[in-house]
Amino acid sequence: MDKVYTGCFVPSDGGGGMEINMEEKILVTRSSMPSMEEYIDMIRPLWDSHWLTNMGELHKSLEVKLKEYLQVQGLSLFVNGHMALELAIAAMHFPPGSEVITTPFTFISTTHAIVRNGLQPVFCDIKTSDYTIDEDKIEELITDKTVAIVPVHVYGQICNIEQIKLIAEKYNLKVIYDASHAFGEIYKGEGVGNFGQVSTFSFHATKVYNTIEGGAVCFSNPDLYTTLYNLKNFGIRSEEVVAEVGANAKMNEFAAAMGLCNLKHIEQEIAKRKKVVEKYREILGTVPGLRILPEQTDVTSNYAYFPILIDETRFGRTRNEVYDLLKTYDIYSRKYFYPLTSDQACFRNRYRGLPLQNARYISARVLVLPLYADLSLDDVERICRIILEGESGCR
Ligand SMILES: *Cc1c(COP(=O)(O)O)cnc(C)c1O
Repeated sequence: MDKVYTGCFVPSDGGGGMEINMEEKILVTRSSMPSMEEYIDMIRPLWDSHWLTNMGELHKSLEVKLKEYLQVQGLSLFVNGHMALELAIAAMHFPPGSEVITTPFTFISTTHAIVRNGLQPVFCDIKTSDYTIDEDKIEELITDKTVAIVPVHVYGQICNIEQIKLIAEKYNLKVIYDASHAFGEIYKGEGVGNFGQVSTFSFHATKVYNTIEGGAVCFSNPDLYTTLYNLKNFGIRSEEVVAEVGANAKMNEFAAAMGLCNLKHIEQEIAKRKKVVEKYREILGTVPGLRILPEQTDVTSNYAYFPILIDETRFGRTRNEVYDLLKTYDIYSRKYFYPLTSDQACFRNRYRGLPLQNARYISARVLVLPLYADLSLDDVERICRIILEGESGCR
């Protein structure tokens, strides 16, 4: 039976026709929030204590609860995901100018975190099978200045953890995972935060789990707790002792409160995302010229993103055309991750022209479709119909 859409409308710039825009804008994501009452109950005690930041009660409580949820041994909360990653790298005390092998197919934060530590990013190509760093191309990039690998579980796709570990052990390198997209994922029965020397998460408003702004570093070496504590709190150890040089990157109590509330609903949120992804897969899964990443075996997914790869020669439209088309219907997909971070203007032409063949291929064709817990399945159908037919199916 054909679906009847109540919200039919013509494109907002659609040639002067009648415009019946009953739909809201659909953005690529929409932040999860608890009910206002729930949040107010959580922050109410702050008006008694007047303790708003500096590792307060809510901060402590969230560290404990997240450690449990992520099934990790050690965890330190941060003001955001970027500072979690930047200071996790700083905690390794690499000599300035050392080389760090990383992926260019990521959010710019990953590369900035390396560069802002005074280190040299060395860009490694990715695999077309899952868009993570190509572990078979890492070794040829290692020099006597290489100190670390910073892979990214991009879109929540888990890297080849075993192979990366073997290479790191062979060459005595540290591994720092940017796990910003992989919140709560389980790989072969283990929380993904357990891999590498450290793994970092982002709790930004746009991520699967948010604390408005926030992040965390996970680790198993207990010494790292103090090192990271110093780095995020000016190195202050006691009233009169500053033991190290540090920044200010603490999570405040209002953010921790949001985190505690959102954590209560995370399972339902992920279950709802799963339904959305299943609907996308059902409609777009077998379309010639569209490629959808297969679910990874051994991974319990968090359904963070839904990227599609558009091969224009078979699909008939380019990625940019599909992006523009959706936009005319007030649907905002994103070209994550285009351009590659190595090609960004801030690096001038320093890394341009690197033979990052797969990364370039994917980056030019990938489109991330709207995905959030409350995206209705009717909206998913409408988005798919526009992608496939170039129209919403009603006039
Ligand atoms: C979001 C993100 C970050 C940075 O996190 P913020 O919380 O926004 O600072 C780092 N790396 C990746 C891959 C991300 O997607």
